[in-house]
Amino acid sequence: MARRGNSIIKGIEINEIIAVLNKAYADEWLAYYQYFVQAKVVKGIMKDAAVTELTEHAADELRHANMVADRILQLGGTPLLNPQEWFTHTNCGYEEPKELDVVSLLQDSIKGEQCAISVYSQLADMTREKDIVTYDIVSQILADEVEHEEDLQSLHDDITEFIEDIKKNIN
Ligand code: FE
Ligand code: FE
Ligand code: MG
Repeated sequence: MARRGNSIIKGIEINEIIAVLNKAYADEWLAYYQYFVQAKVVKGIMKDAAVTELTEHAADELRHANMVADRILQLGGTPLLNPQEWFTHTNCGYEEPKELDVVSLLQDSIKGEQCAISVYSQLADMTREKDIVTYDIVSQILADEVEHEEDLQSLHDDITEFIEDIKKNIN
């Protein structure tokens, strides 16, 4: 553990930061797997565009897990060691794909991103001016999650509009 690095943290317990980061860490692994498996099983119209986006997001969530794990270690904590703990610690849970069509999977993921935005926004509020390094990391992740929501929503809107156009042309 980096002593001087941690001595600059003020007005917040380091153990508390480690605990909330481990919850975010659980979220990132579950989000990673959700995107990974969605990209494998997704079916239907404009599937290729969805696969590209879902695969990119899976890579981003894994990168977030790395960033959070490294910060937990710097703070003297241990990232969750057992995947079973992902389910007991997660804020946002895991949305098992039930309907495998593109629109349903995008809706599932949009929900997940909205939860992630709330979580990282709270973590930014909690660490602002108290733990600048964690604040910087959670702000970077927050910006990615905002981009994720936008990417998924615009793809979702394009696809649903396209489906509507086809329906109109058939009638
Ligand atoms: Fe993430
Ligand atoms: Fe995300
Ligand atoms: Mg994207």
